[in-house]
Amino acid sequence: MYVITHPHCLAHEMGHAHPESPDRLKVIQQVITQLSEQYPLQPLNATQAPLKAIKRAHSDHLIEQLTAHAPTEGYYSIDADTTMNPASLNAARYAAGSGLLALQMIHQKQTISHTAFCAVRPPGHHAEHDRAMGFCLLNHIAICALAAATDYHKKRIAIVDFDVHHGNGTEDIVADHSAIALFSTFQHPLYPGTGVPASADNIHNYPLSAGTNSHQIQQLWQQRLLPDIKAYQPDLILVSAGFDAHKDDPLAGLNFEDDDYYFFARELKSLADELCERKLIAFLEGGYELNALSRSVKRFMQGLLDD
Ligand SMILES: [Zn+2]
Repeated sequence: MYVITHPHCLAHEMGHAHPESPDRLKVIQQVITQLSEQYPLQPLNATQAPLKAIKRAHSDHLIEQLTAHAPTEGYYSIDADTTMNPASLNAARYAAGSGLLALQMIHQKQTISHTAFCAVRPPGHHAEHDRAMGFCLLNHIAICALAAATDYHKKRIAIVDFDVHHGNGTEDIVADHSAIALFSTFQHPLYPGTGVPASADNIHNYPLSAGTNSHQIQQLWQQRLLPDIKAYQPDLILVSAGFDAHKDDPLAGLNFEDDDYYFFARELKSLADELCERKLIAFLEGGYELNALSRSVKRFMQGLLDD
C-alpha cells in the first residue's frame, strides 16, 4: 500500500487546544511505522496539486481568498472553527496533491499496490466549491475524483464517507456529476446540519441517530450501503476516512468501535477487488481522540492490507 503524506501537513496548526492538531498525524505516523514492520508499505511524500486540478473543484474566488489571506506570521480566521497559519495553504495543496499522486501510482503498469492511504491534514470533506469551513480548506477527495474522471477516464467513481459529520463540501462539488456517486453515513442532526435530504440523484445519504452502535452500523452497511455501492458498479473507490464516529471521540455522539473500521476496510477492499481492479484510495478526514484515532486507523489500514 502507498502511504502518502507531506511535512507541511504537520506544520499546519490552528492554535493551542484546537482538536484538529498536528498530534493527530504524529500518532498516525507511529501506527504507520509499526505496521511497516509487518506489511509492505511504500511511504511517499506528496507533490503539490496543480492549480488546474484544484480549479475543477473550487471557484477562483475561494482560491484567491485563501491565497490573499494566508498569513506570513500568526493566524487568519476563516470561521469560528477554521484558521490558517503560514503553513496551512501549502498543507492543503500538498494534501490535495496526495490524492493525485495516489491516482498516478496505482495506475502505473508495474505498480506494487492498487491501494493508497493519504495521511494528510487539514481534512477536506467540508470544503465546498466556493467556501472553506469546518477545519477544511480544499476538498482533496473531490479534487481526486474529478481528476480520476478527467485524466483516468473513470466512469463510475464511488466516494464513501464514514466520518461522523456530513461531508457537505463533497456533496456540494460532486452533486449531479455523471461519473461520480457519493455514499455517506453521518450523525444527524449534527454539524454542519446538511445532507437531509440529499441534494441530487447521485448522492446516497444514510443519516444516523445519536448513539448508533457497532452492531447497527454494520447491519446498515450489510443491508443498504454495500448493496447500493455494488449496484452502482464502481470502477474506482475513494474513501473519506474520518474516525470521529468512534465512541471515545469527544466531537460527536456515535458509538463505533475500533473493529468497525476493520470491517469497513474489509468490505470496501472486497468491493474494490471485485469491481475496481483493486483500486482504492483513502483520505484521512476527522478523528480527534488520539488513542481511539490511533487504534482505529491501525484497524482500518490492517483491513486494507490483510489478504
Ligand atoms: Zn468529522
